[in-house]
Amino acid sequence: MSTAPLVCIVCPIGCEVDVELEVGPVIRVKSVKGNACQRGDVWARQEMEHPLRTLTSLVGVKRGNLPLASVRTTKPVPLSAFPHIMILLRGIELNAPVSIGEVLISKPMGYDTDIVVTRNVSVLMEKDPPSF
Ligand code: SF4
Repeated sequence: MSTAPLVCIVCPIGCEVDVELEVGPVIRVKSVKGNACQRGDVWARQEMEHPLRTLTSLVGVKRGNLPLASVRTTKPVPLSAFPHIMILLRGIELNAPVSIGEVLISKPMGYDTDIVVTRNVSVLMEKDPPSF
C-alpha cells in the first residue's frame, strides 16, 4: 500500500489530493481524500489507473516553406499508447501545402481520436527566404 499526493487540475481551485494505492501488477486506487468535489475523485482515479494526455508531435513536410508541421490528437489518448503512435508518425512525410485541421491519421491504433495538423505549411517558392 502507498499514497500519492496530487494536485487536481480539473478546476482552478487545485485541491491537494491524497490517493491511496494498491500497487501490484496493476495500480488500483483504494481511496481519494482531500478533493472538494466528485470530479476530483474521478480525475485522480483516472490519472493513477489510466492516465490520458493529448499527444503533440511534428512531421516532416516535403517542398514546404517550413520543414515540419505540428500535429496533435483531437482527444486525449492513454499515455501508454504514445510510443506506438509515435512509431506511426515517424514514417509520415507530408507534401506541401498542408492546412490546419487536415486529418493525418484517423483512429490511430483504434483509439477514438484523429491526429490533425495544427500549422499551415505552404509550398516553398524560389523567392521565399528560409523561415524557422
Ligand atoms: S476536487 Fe473539485 S473543487 Fe477541487 S480542484 Fe478538483 S474539480 Fe476543483
